[in-house]
Formats: sequence, C-alpha cells, structure tokens
Amino acid sequence: MTHPTDPVTTGLIHHPYHPPAGFDAVPPAVFKASTVIFRDTQALRQRSWKSRDGYTYGLHGTPTTFTLEERIATLEGGRHCVLVPSGLAGITLVNLALLRRGDEVLLPHNVYGPSREQARTLLDAMGVGWREYDAMDAAALAAMITPATRLVWLEAPGSVSMEFPDLRALVQAVHAGGALAALDSTWAGGVAFRPFDMGIDISMHALTKYPSGGADVLMGAIVTQDEELAHRVLQMHSVTGTGVSANDAEFILRSLPTLRVRYEAHDSVARDLALWLQQQSVVTQVLHPALPGSPGHAHWRAHCTAAAGLFSVMFDERHPQDQVDRFVDALRLFKIGYSWGGPVSLAVPYDIQAMRTAGASPQGRLVRLSIGLEALEDLRADLAQALKVAFG
Ligand SMILES: *Cc1c(COP(=O)(O)O)cnc(C)c1O
Repeated sequence: MTHPTDPVTTGLIHHPYHPPAGFDAVPPAVFKASTVIFRDTQALRQRSWKSRDGYTYGLHGTPTTFTLEERIATLEGGRHCVLVPSGLAGITLVNLALLRRGDEVLLPHNVYGPSREQARTLLDAMGVGWREYDAMDAAALAAMITPATRLVWLEAPGSVSMEFPDLRALVQAVHAGGALAALDSTWAGGVAFRPFDMGIDISMHALTKYPSGGADVLMGAIVTQDEELAHRVLQMHSVTGTGVSANDAEFILRSLPTLRVRYEAHDSVARDLALWLQQQSVVTQVLHPALPGSPGHAHWRAHCTAAAGLFSVMFDERHPQDQVDRFVDALRLFKIGYSWGGPVSLAVPYDIQAMRTAGASPQGRLVRLSIGLEALEDLRADLAQALKVAFG
C-alpha cells in the first residue's frame, strides 16, 4: 500500500497494522459489517448470497450470524437455519416463502395471537386463505385439508391456554393431506422435545425467549432439514432484508451454553408453583401441560422430557375481572409484561374466551404466569400475599 500523506485522516482509515494471527478465546468473535470487502472483482462476481461458504453483504450473514445459525440448527435437530429479527418475523418469512395467491394455510385454534392477526391482514391481502383447526382433534384436521392447503402451523402447547396436542398425529394428518407442517417450537426451547423428531418440515423458534434468556434481545430462527425448503426460506430472507445484528447474535451466543440449565430451573420452580396454586381454593384450574388433569397432559408425557416455566391460572367467573386484576397488581416480584424466558417472573391477564374462535376454551378468568429465575420460596410468598390482597 502507498503510504498515506495524511496520517490523521487517511492514515486512521487505511491503517497498516494487523494484529498477530492465532488469537483464540472461549466466546466466538463478533464480526460486524454492512459492507463485506472482496479480494478482487472476480471474487465479487463469483460469490453468491445463496451460499453459506462465503460472504457478500452484512444482511446475508457474517461469521457471527453463521455461527449462531449452526448452533440453533443443532439445538433444533435440523440442518439449515436462517436468523430473522424476531419470532414474529420468522412466522412472516415462513408464510411468505411458502404461500401464494389461492393457497390456504391452517392455524391451530390456540395459535400465537399475532400469527392469527397476520393471517387476518397480510395473508388475506395476499389472497391466501386461512382457517383454524381444533389442535386437540387430529381427525378433524385431516378432514379439513384440501388440495389448496399448502401449509399447516402447529404449536405445542397452544398459546395462553396451554393445551398440549398429539403432535405426531397432527403431523401425520398434515403429510397425508400433502401439506407442509411448520411448528412454532418456542415453548420447547430445543429442550422439552426435539422438533425434528416429531416429523415436522419447518421449525420456527423465537430466540427472544429462552435462547436469549435476558429479556433484552428480539430474534427468530427458521430451521429446516430439507435443502429445497431451506433455499425457499433463504430466497425470501434475501429479498425482504430481514437480517440480524451481530451484537444481538452475540447475546444469544453467550446465553446458549446455559440454555438447558436455565430451562430446567424455570421448569422445576414453575411446576412447584403450579402444584401449590392448584391447592388454593380460589383457583379453579391450573393449565400446565406437565400437570395431570391439564388438557393434553397425556400427549405432553408422550412427547416431552421437560416443560417451559410458563402456565396459566384460572379463577372462577364469579370473581369480577377487577378482582383478578387486583391480584395481578398486588404482585411485587412478578412484573406485568409480555414475552417470557427472562430472569424476572411475569404475569398477564388474558380474556381467553374472546381470543378463541374455534375449539374449546377454558372457563373462567385467566392469568398467565411466566416463572423467572427467582427463588421458589420468594415467588410463592409473593403469590400468597397477592391472593390475600385480592381474594381475602
Ligand atoms: C414470543 C413468541 C413468538 C414471537 O416472538 P417475538 O420475538 O416476540 O416476535 C412467537 N411464537 C411464540 C409461541 C412466542 O411465545
């Protein structure tokens, strides 16, 4: 390189120093780029965004995001992974990659709410039809599938009401009907069950939850086994500009080694609290798939080795909503807020009957609890004092 005449301007931009090679450490390095520099024009022309063995532009991946993609593919038991800026963006990308005008998609009756809202607005505007099926009835799903049905979304358990479906039977029905099965695998976290052991075609995991574990990063992952499916997802990824930042990827890479121990800690405390709440006279039902008597408990036992720290509590309808809200407002350690998977326990009241348009809905007034990483005794004391404030 010619020596720059101005050391403070050009010299600081085109600096000759290169640190010695051979550095190694526990965390993977964080590479940040919009522009990726090519060695020469031939390299520029030869390289393609479709290939994961080279780099073209920050949006299509860096060593940092490729590293995280490989680890998430391993976590899910799949082969190809694409990262997107949120779990919801993951749902969007799967829908855009696989659905065309005139196609139909089926959603479970207990689907993640924003996914239904997307069908109602975006998919409807695209000319894609959608219907809901009863996730607890595989035969009914089989009967609903038509030649137009391209894609069926699955969730295990369902959002908020927590019914655990017969996943393998649902996947079988989807494939018998000639459609693709996409699973929102966020609850499983790659720990409770291995998504691809269920025979699904696509897994969408909101890394925002347990893989992040900090309540600080939004990210989604789409994992596939099949080369051709992976390519369709990658194609849509490249034209929608839905890449992720290296700093966000770094947070998830740092949290992944503790994923299993955190998941198991959330699980253990949540199950103890669920059992304790079940014994409180004001509580009519606790919806937690690992609890005998919860909807789909037998399916949970057949599919899972663990459970997320997430469950819902039902109060009798004779208690007005105000009184249930007073319980939530009286909680001190539990904060009021959406999402889950972080260290802080959370509570949200949901109008579950208004959210369901198909399938059965639990009776009464619902509060969903996400159990963080606080001590069991402290969380139990917090629930006890709040129950006392609201219900006496
Ligand atoms: C949180 C969540 C999502 C969406 O993830 P975001 O990153 O918040 O967009 C999707 N599905 C399920 C089941 C979730 O819990």
